[in-house]
Amino acid sequence: MKIIVCVKQVPDASDVRLDPVTNTLAREGVQSIMNPYDQHALEEAVRLKEKHGGEVIVVTMGPPQAEEILRLAISCGADSVVLVSDRAFAGADTWATSYTLEHAVKKIGAFDLILCGKQAIDGDTAQVGPGLATRLDIPYLTCVQKVRESSDKGLIVERMMDDGYDVVAVDYPALLTVVKNINEPRVPSLKGKMKAKKAEILRLSAADIGADAACIGLPGSPTKVVNVFPPETRGGRSVLTGTLDEQLDQLVDKLLPYL
Ligand SMILES: Cc1cc2nc3c(=O)[nH]c(=O)nc-3n(C[C@H](O)[C@H](O)[C@H](O)COP(=O)(O)OP(=O)(O)OC[C@H]3O[C@@H](n4cnc5c(N)ncnc54)[C@H](O)[C@@H]3O)c2cc1C
Repeated sequence: MKIIVCVKQVPDASDVRLDPVTNTLAREGVQSIMNPYDQHALEEAVRLKEKHGGEVIVVTMGPPQAEEILRLAISCGADSVVLVSDRAFAGADTWATSYTLEHAVKKIGAFDLILCGKQAIDGDTAQVGPGLATRLDIPYLTCVQKVRESSDKGLIVERMMDDGYDVVAVDYPALLTVVKNINEPRVPSLKGKMKAKKAEILRLSAADIGADAACIGLPGSPTKVVNVFPPETRGGRSVLTGTLDEQLDQLVDKLLPYL
């Protein structure tokens, strides 16, 4: 079984900073982590490999320092890792990101399954997984909370829905995006950390993946993040007093102006 896992390096939620010049999230010199959802995607891939054999290839599109999360991936059971990195990818929106990952996947070659996280905790769009599957013209299932059955032909999974979950079968090749309650990611073993230190990282540039310059980075992005700003905090709080009915009346009075 050949499984590709897409992971993203994101600012650690406790260290989110805005770049005052570009008005986008600062990525240099901030504490970065592997996107938490992607850790669950990686864990699920390694479990499927342990059950069926095969290999797990982890790919990330990011700046050179994204090498860090690829070494973490090796220490958590990945077999090989790919860093798709080029200044030309800077400022990519989800359209350009999924285009770049499509070309990276085609460079990696044939696969059975692609696993992504449901969303990245910085952009939060949940668009890259479905976008990548659409570009590769393969079926995809989002918000997968459980792999019920797996074979060398396909999977039966639980897809989380607002009112419960669906049980869906899908044949390979396919793409899944996973939610956090699908599994508990393993902690890197000492052996894994040792392996990660020595691991080779395949680096692919825009030219290496045959990307069209007009389709990547800022030029290739129909949407542009023009401004990122912290939500306005409105001061002042009021305590509702009296009986429940009186408090409800007060609450309605306070909310009415906003409706
Ligand atoms: C605050 C903010 C708001 C943004 N709003 C938008 C917007 O509205 N529209 C838009 O097009 N772009 C937006 N962007 C840009 C967007 O973050 C980037 O395009 C990003 O590369 C992908 O989108 P995402 O972070 O939402 O990822 P998501 O689509 O939420 O990621 C889902 C999954 O895709 C995979 N994935 C995502 N990025 C990568 C990567 N670089 N390498 C490997 N796998 C990856 C991971 O498995 C991840 O779990 C925004 C960025 C920020 C910081």
